[in-house]
Amino acid sequence: MNTTTPSPATPPLATEYFDGQRPVAQAVTLRIDDGDLLIEGAGVSRRVPRRQLRWPERQRHGARLMYLPQHGLISHGDGAGWDAWTRAQGLRDPWVVRWMQSWRGVLWALLACVLVAVSAWQWGVPWIGRAALAAIPASLDQTVGEQALASFDREGLNKSQLSADRQAAIRRTFAAAVERAYPADARPAYTLHFRSAGRMKIGPNAFALPGGQMVLTDELAELLADAPDVTTGVLAHELGHVRHRHGMRTVVQASLLAGLAGLVVGDFSSVLATVPAVLGQQAYARDFEREADEEAIAVLRANGVRPSQMVVLFDRLAAWRQRQGGADLTDLPIAVADHPADAERTRAFRDADSAR
Ligand SMILES: [Zn+2]
Repeated sequence: MNTTTPSPATPPLATEYFDGQRPVAQAVTLRIDDGDLLIEGAGVSRRVPRRQLRWPERQRHGARLMYLPQHGLISHGDGAGWDAWTRAQGLRDPWVVRWMQSWRGVLWALLACVLVAVSAWQWGVPWIGRAALAAIPASLDQTVGEQALASFDREGLNKSQLSADRQAAIRRTFAAAVERAYPADARPAYTLHFRSAGRMKIGPNAFALPGGQMVLTDELAELLADAPDVTTGVLAHELGHVRHRHGMRTVVQASLLAGLAGLVVGDFSSVLATVPAVLGQQAYARDFEREADEEAIAVLRANGVRPSQMVVLFDRLAAWRQRQGGADLTDLPIAVADHPADAERTRAFRDADSAR
């Protein structure tokens, strides 16, 4: 093969060469011969196999650099001219460099990072949360729940105005329903409290706190005064949150996210202080709500009540809101009225009738 005649289509490129010993640029020409790069000038003659060339990450603008094996480099001031010449010679940047240059590549890399972060959030946090939860004694749930209720009482929940008889009747009905739904050794422990919504913007509502502290507001008791089965369904939903420790799981997950690893190693005091805030600001995860609804369905079925009765709750809550001029019950996102029925939820209760 003729090594001296440049290809007519691709003339040699005049550029500068540094030999790596002296900081002096030498004028050379570059051409490709038989797959090798030939560097020729006064007192310079090097032949470098193409795959030994190293291309650093380059700027979009500015001089192009090409490193040669052992020593020496090429520096070319005219970036566009360099790009055109190397492209014509079939020389290409290593793929990483090309990739870093490409917006599409950067976007894919960003997307991959986001996916990793979302996966960690989606699966990592709940997984660690479950592990941490297993390490937390149930007695702590009790303390946490009592403290949270005391905090909500301070924030504005009032004493119930329901008569002692009404309260006793609701307690009795629900206790009987629970007795029929669970065998004696699997009955979740709970304490039912009656409160009026007071200054808290929760209206007709019910919620569960860690350790089995369940609260029913007078407003909801009145709204369902003629529907004891629906009241039972609401309380059974809250019992589902209790049985699955959703309150503690929410606190643990939020604490993990807040970096309160102290929860696991035993520094509970800082965590206890955050509990009312967490339960007061965070809604239960959708999965938790679904599990609680399943609990309600199971309890109603065990008592011979059609689960679709629960639609009464959603209808009346919607009507109540309308009467209040579209009031939002935003003060306690974990509470039942705060996650009003979407089509999926009502369908689950309706479908449960036929799925017996
Ligand atoms: Zn719920």
